[in-house]
Amino acid sequence: MISNASVVIIGGGIIGTSIAFNLAKLGVKDISVFEKSYISSGSTGRCGGGIRQQWTSPMNVRLAMRSVELFRRFREDIGMDIEYHEGGYLLLAYSDEEMGEFESNVKMQNQEGLSVQLVSPGEIKEKFPFMNLERVVGGTWCPSDSHANPQIANIAYAIAIKRMGVDLNTHTAVDGIDIQNGEIVGVQTDKGYVKTNTVINAAGGFSHEVGLMANMDIPTHSERHQILVTESINHVLEPMVISFKKNYYVRQTMHGSFVMGQSDKKPAQGNDLGHSVEFLEEMAPKMVHDFPFMTHLHIVRQWSGAYNISPDAQPIIDTAESISRYIFAVGFSGHGFMLAPAAGEAVAEMVVYGRSKTMDVSNLNMRRFKRQIKSEKNVV
Ligand SMILES: Cc1cc2nc3c(=O)[nH]c(=O)nc-3n(C[C@H](O)[C@H](O)[C@H](O)COP(=O)(O)OP(=O)(O)OC[C@H]3O[C@@H](n4cnc5c(N)ncnc54)[C@H](O)[C@@H]3O)c2cc1C
Repeated sequence: MISNASVVIIGGGIIGTSIAFNLAKLGVKDISVFEKSYISSGSTGRCGGGIRQQWTSPMNVRLAMRSVELFRRFREDIGMDIEYHEGGYLLLAYSDEEMGEFESNVKMQNQEGLSVQLVSPGEIKEKFPFMNLERVVGGTWCPSDSHANPQIANIAYAIAIKRMGVDLNTHTAVDGIDIQNGEIVGVQTDKGYVKTNTVINAAGGFSHEVGLMANMDIPTHSERHQILVTESINHVLEPMVISFKKNYYVRQTMHGSFVMGQSDKKPAQGNDLGHSVEFLEEMAPKMVHDFPFMTHLHIVRQWSGAYNISPDAQPIIDTAESISRYIFAVGFSGHGFMLAPAAGEAVAEMVVYGRSKTMDVSNLNMRRFKRQIKSEKNVV
């Protein structure tokens, strides 16, 4: 652990390590990352690994599209295979009203430059004959949506940043941020004090608590989301499939198991990592109905993690108004893995140049919540 850091990043999840990677790439030296547990112990290591560009908010579409560009180069840039696979995403609609919403989303997404199209039940059946499409009236299909292994991606960033000279401290918790006259002077960890004038809050499910260390009331909260994995079978399902109506997402991993999840009706609040039998009881019948080949499939494991949620279900990427050089990249609302490459790039540019250059992320500031809140709708 170094005693004097140019930048301290709190959190060694996909966001913190992506920021560190991008800072190091821009030539910043003496970066410290503090992770209170092991790499990928937070939401990143618990997530579904989906990489989707089909959002209702143009900003999420742009961030996801930039991230896909960077995911495509991940192996070349970072030197590790993260099981990145462009199998597409299929979103299912069950009523004319839902199809109407999909139509206007596709229009906006096409305007943003995303190749995504409306599909009829017949077209879906032709592409994915193993699915039961009862009551499906259509859907949307984006072939460049993808998935990857989030744990490997997080670890790949961690290995890369260590190689680039970043001071990465696992099992080290930040307990306090030392501020004097509105300026950061250091952080207190459970292993000692580090001098710094720049702190980045990338604490995922603990973003609100880390905000309070700097007397900032960041409007994020954490909510438990459950997920499960089945045994593996031969490859049958190419895309990630989402039904907002039936409340599920599912994908088949590279080695053949299925990863799937839903939003609980009354999700446990906070960073509760327990799980429930109800989750299994709700998931099983709907999956067996829509994917009849899963009827005799065994569930291997279930677990949970936190969605760190902002008031409009879009990330908050901003610099504090009252504290100099306190930056936060939080509130990813269940889609932080897929946005991490672009978010890391933007935050690193904010530190080095005072603003994000590659992509303008200024409308993800915290002031937006003072205006009318327009929420991202495509969340499971
Ligand atoms: C069940 C589930 C499914 C999901 N599916 C998807 C998906 O398909 N696609 C997608 O894009 N996203 C998905 N997500 C969301 C995604 O996992 C998160 O948005 C993303 O991992 C957030 O990354 P992060 O680095 O901000 O948080 P984390 O990975 O949680 O990292 C934050 C880290 O900060 C550390 N920390 C906190 N406080 C301190 C402190 N005081 N000192 C030191 N360290 C600290 C924590 O230990 C943690 O490791 C899913 C989430 C869940 C729970």
